[in-house]
Amino acid sequence: MSQYKKNISNQEKLESPIDFRSDTVTLPSHEMLASIDNTKLGDDVYGEDFEVIELQEYAANLLGKEASLFFPSGTQSNLTAMLAHCQRGDEVLIGRHYHTNVYEARGVSVLGGVGICPIDTSASGSMKVSDMLSQIKDNDPHYAVTKLLCLENTFSGKVQPQQELDALAKAAHSKGLKVHLDGARLFNAHIHSGLTLKALTESFDSISICLSKGLGAPIGSLLVSDQATINRALRLRKMLGGGMRQVGVIAAYGMYALKNNVKRLQEDHDNAKYLASGLSSLSELTIDYGENQTNMVFVDCPEQHRESLGKHLFDRNIIISNLDRGRLVCHLGISKEDILVVIDAFKEYFKNI
Ligand SMILES: *Cc1c(COP(=O)(O)O)cnc(C)c1O
Repeated sequence: MSQYKKNISNQEKLESPIDFRSDTVTLPSHEMLASIDNTKLGDDVYGEDFEVIELQEYAANLLGKEASLFFPSGTQSNLTAMLAHCQRGDEVLIGRHYHTNVYEARGVSVLGGVGICPIDTSASGSMKVSDMLSQIKDNDPHYAVTKLLCLENTFSGKVQPQQELDALAKAAHSKGLKVHLDGARLFNAHIHSGLTLKALTESFDSISICLSKGLGAPIGSLLVSDQATINRALRLRKMLGGGMRQVGVIAAYGMYALKNNVKRLQEDHDNAKYLASGLSSLSELTIDYGENQTNMVFVDCPEQHRESLGKHLFDRNIIISNLDRGRLVCHLGISKEDILVVIDAFKEYFKNI
């Protein structure tokens, strides 16, 4: 089933809903919108948009790498990274349930001729070094050439233990592989763990970060890596149609997000924790909210209630995804007061059945 299927029809549009489907649904604040007023725009395909240049330098410095490149989406940034590290006929190892394996339409295989070898992970997303190593192919003409390991942090909102990620990267490097991190929500891991961005990314050859998730920018991702990889990525991005012109109009929002919306992620984590504890008093629901969780609460609701509960919430201006292990994502569009309203709405439903 589509991960985005709503419990409501698309014809219905709420005014300002409490929307838990994803942290991608955030709308830019007035302050963010105003941040484009003084931008130094130019043609970024000519390398002349100073807003973009500034953002790319800023992101590279934050992560302690040489360079970075601005992308319209995290999917294109991940795809470009994988293509920059691999040739046709090569293979990339990816956790079975990771975004790069499941939700990116297998672009790396379709467009790049690069195979994916999925590696089993635990429910919380962690991969065993031995499972990863066992899938690196010998130099034998029967096999694809294993070139890259792709990891993810956070995974389903869960911060991955840094020692585990570092150990995986070290083991992969010792076999001559490159290692890419899909860090779409890296800043949530940064705020939750207290580790610096450099400590979180030191082990990786390239990292993709999203500005359009919890950081609240409307569009944009960055690929961060060494200069040689970014040089290859520049040609690949053009090939994929991701070369954009006066794109400082978007980069300015990204810069605003990086400078203003990182620390406040703690509020989202606090709200998620509060929501999880409020909902856990309802015996009909099974709540999954682990220790390493950041901004997501997973709710398993008995099948007979899923549709009617979804409708009950929608009538109260609350939008959630499907309730078979439904994901409630906290973000800057949801306040503590909203969380109280939502907990009450759940309680009201179960009181009346
Ligand atoms: C959102 C996301 C991406 C990139 O998604 P886009 O919608 O293409 O920006 C990549 N990885 C993870 C884990 C994500 O959540």
